[in-house]
Amino acid sequence: MITLKEALKLSSAELETLKDELREKIEAQSDINAYIDVHNVGDGVPIAIKDNIQVKDWSVTSGSKILQGYIAPYSATVIQKLQNAGLSPFGRTNMDEFAMGSTTESSCYGKTLNPHNKECVPGGSSGGSAAAVAAGLAIAALGSDTGGSIRQPAAFCGIVGMKPTYGRVSRYGLGAYASSLDQIGPMTQNVEDAAILYDIISGHDPKDSTSADMAYESVANKLDSSRKMTIAVLPKYIENASDDIKNAYAKTIETLKKAGHTIIEKDMMDPKYDISAYYITATAEATTNLARYDGIRYGKRVEGENLQETYFNTRSEGFGDEVKRRIMLGNFVLSSGFYDAYYVKAQKVRHLIKEEYEALFKEVDLILSPIAPTVAPKCGEFADPMAMYLSDIYSISVNLAGLPAISLPVDKTADGMPVGLQLIGAAFDEQSVFDGALSLEKELQL
Ligand code: GLN
Repeated sequence: MITLKEALKLSSAELETLKDELREKIEAQSDINAYIDVHNVGDGVPIAIKDNIQVKDWSVTSGSKILQGYIAPYSATVIQKLQNAGLSPFGRTNMDEFAMGSTTESSCYGKTLNPHNKECVPGGSSGGSAAAVAAGLAIAALGSDTGGSIRQPAAFCGIVGMKPTYGRVSRYGLGAYASSLDQIGPMTQNVEDAAILYDIISGHDPKDSTSADMAYESVANKLDSSRKMTIAVLPKYIENASDDIKNAYAKTIETLKKAGHTIIEKDMMDPKYDISAYYITATAEATTNLARYDGIRYGKRVEGENLQETYFNTRSEGFGDEVKRRIMLGNFVLSSGFYDAYYVKAQKVRHLIKEEYEALFKEVDLILSPIAPTVAPKCGEFADPMAMYLSDIYSISVNLAGLPAISLPVDKTADGMPVGLQLIGAAFDEQSVFDGALSLEKELQL
């Protein structure tokens, strides 16, 4: 597939031909179920859009039955930015319902398959975007990352996925899962494309009160793979990862050394605390955010005898099991008897995680970490929700601390499944994240 950088040089006529080819390929590989449907706005470079980002006049459902019938009345800021830069929203990609999940199996449109092995999941929740790019069905895509949903599917599908610093990219028009963790980011074929797309969607937005009000400088124009950096590696932290991940980690450390970077060994707090802090915070926020889906204001309505019954019927039929589980969890941790014991404590742990990262970044430029403890599992393997939550162990602290991170393919297993790892940077230091990733990508190609 043509890269984003190359596609930006094509004429309108060439882009039309490219879009026709894309439509044919998407049709021919419809079994992957990467796209929910294919629309196009404008004559720019086509970019696939996760189904929780609003494109004016398109259906947007966050992979949920409860939003079916809802048409976006306005475009998300990232969509306006794409259009201003000569890009076109092209197709809605599949996702876990309300971005809750790690496999894209909880979508009301059915699961998406991993193009590298159709028995495996593509990861989640942005599994449709990752599978589309990996299968050559998209030049690039937008995803959202609340606890790994860009980086983990990127790793499972062998593509590049980048989560910006919290506040760097506007969340205006993004269907909220957990507002203090969500960020939109690029999913691309290579690091340079990720930097280009990241540049396009970033910057202060007065429509998002959590958007960082600071001057934005392009990273793509200043990409420098020759910078020598100090990178922390975490030998103890990865003890629970599979052999495939451990081997790739060891090999990547050697590759980084060969590229001239200084590697220093560090340790971090037991990541089991990340899981607890994340699942309390995320479900608490999700409960609040999802309260608005009542059958009155958006999408689906299942009438009852009275208003309360209408709420009840709509939410019972509209939400899937995973979403209901999280609404219950969120209400529990926010309930008056448990608020201090769970929610407040989770915020304290979150603060400690942030402080730990800040201390580390006084000494290093980047941290090399796994993104998931295994490569893509088989479909159905995460039938037990607890097993699925535990698989987020390496991705979620980045969101709790609001940091930028990029996941890129570094290896393949004996049976050809991609292995991705992530480079994490200090808040608002996306430049180092991209520079380090580019240097690693180049060294791997040598
Ligand atoms: N797997 C995590 C969850 O289910 C992260 C999802 C995400 O980043 N949207 O919450």
